[in-house]
Amino acid sequence: MDDLIINVDALEEANQPFEADLPRDLLDEVLRADPPTEFHANGAARLKGRATKLGRKVLVQARATVPLRGQCRRCLKPVMLDEQVDLIRSYVPADQLPGRQEHHAKGSEASLDPEGVDEEPYEGKEIDLKPAVREQILLQIPGSPLCGEDCKGLCPRCGKDLNEGDCGCDRTALDPRWAALKGIQLEKKKEK
Ligand SMILES: [Zn+2]
Ligand SMILES: [Zn+2]
Repeated sequence: MDDLIINVDALEEANQPFEADLPRDLLDEVLRADPPTEFHANGAARLKGRATKLGRKVLVQARATVPLRGQCRRCLKPVMLDEQVDLIRSYVPADQLPGRQEHHAKGSEASLDPEGVDEEPYEGKEIDLKPAVREQILLQIPGSPLCGEDCKGLCPRCGKDLNEGDCGCDRTALDPRWAALKGIQLEKKKEK
């Protein structure tokens, strides 16, 4: 399969497997679009999935492991991770698809799909998976890179990586608001 296009006429069996490359350029295009995420692609990925045709309706389930790299937002160290991206879509010929508001209503009796499966219209005989892939990548990658949940970040005063130990700087005095607060607390103590 090239260019993430499924030819509907070529789908013969249920659960027909397919594979497609997600080149690094394509992943970067998704990640660096406007507004850009804080990640870059760290390589290419491979989309593997299955497609089932029900009449002219096509259910697509696919998965890719996307290699990402970024910079920890606290300590600025490089962060690399593989993010699994899942895609489940039901593609319906554009002329068979009811109004978008209607099919987005949850529990709609007209829909035979399992709840939560997004329906997408397609025209002609070809389904382009690219928009769905783009959407799922952006939905499923983390908000911003973090080397670890407990990353202590850098000292704002001397720049030392606090994960490697404390630098001994008095960081509480850096922010004038904190300094003022400290003063108030000290005064209260004196009153007692
Ligand atoms: Zn970090
Ligand atoms: Zn320091």
